[in-house]
Amino acid sequence: MSELREIYQEVILDHCRAPRNCRALADPSHQAEGYNPLCGDKVVVYLRVDHGVIMEASFEGVGCAISTATASLMTEALKGRKVGDVQPLFKDFHDMVTGADAAPQPRLGKLEVLGGVREFPGRVKCATLAWHTVLAALQDQPEPVSTE
Ligand code: ZN
Repeated sequence: MSELREIYQEVILDHCRAPRNCRALADPSHQAEGYNPLCGDKVVVYLRVDHGVIMEASFEGVGCAISTATASLMTEALKGRKVGDVQPLFKDFHDMVTGADAAPQPRLGKLEVLGGVREFPGRVKCATLAWHTVLAALQDQPEPVSTE
């Protein structure tokens, strides 16, 4: 697991040890479940959307450090954003972790700490699981989403 040491930075470790928004929402307007069979990461994402704006975002899950830190950073990043901003933000994030576009993405804010994932293609699905799950939640997809 030496690759993890190289990806780890203080922010990732902090979000892994003390994930933000790690709880179920009592009154979600959207929720979905996601699974990454490659690593065994599981996540449930909860959203409360009001007038097209994400008022609350939270998650519960069991997974590796990368998937937990991503869900934590992502739920923080999504609060207060318009629903229509999620897909473009995910595109920026996806381009960053796959190395498709290595240019800095100012929109990503703190999520940029996960840029190191691009060196480890086997970890990309850990970092994108929470995003796929959020998009499934917004589409009211009843079946759990899988990264495979
Ligand atoms: Zn993982």
